[in-house]
Amino acid sequence: MEAIMVSACLRGVSCRFDGRHKASPEVEEAVAGREVVSFCPEVAGGLTTPRRPAELVGGDGHDVLDGTARVVEDTGRDVTAEFVDGARRALAAARHRGCTEALLMPRSPSCGRGVVHDGSFTGELTPGDGVTAALLERNGITVRPATGV
Ligand code: SF4
Repeated sequence: MEAIMVSACLRGVSCRFDGRHKASPEVEEAVAGREVVSFCPEVAGGLTTPRRPAELVGGDGHDVLDGTARVVEDTGRDVTAEFVDGARRALAAARHRGCTEALLMPRSPSCGRGVVHDGSFTGELTPGDGVTAALLERNGITVRPATGV
């Protein structure tokens, strides 16, 4: 069975913006017996932990990749370049390790798949993909959001 990429925070790595992780027994069950590539695109893109929360503004991850939307922190700092760089590094790692699937953290501006925060920093959600989820999907890697987190 091919390797699977998993958001590093889902595997107990404390790389979330708030310095915490989201380790999940459901995730471990889902990937049992598989070769797992744990990856955090935001850290790979050069962001520190902890860091300010960031959201997609003006569109989703696909729009960011197309240059028509941005990723900004709640301070207004633009971190689009870091998010895109992290996404590219995630794709390179996935290709290198032969991942055909990814199981990623829901709602994240990097890892979210199908639903993300709407850019208002109010907790509201909107349909869309994170930047890394979008780039992986565009390159033939099937992305699923983890459940139970
Ligand atoms: Fe987890 Fe992805 Fe955020 Fe990293 S970028 S902390 S792997 S959700």
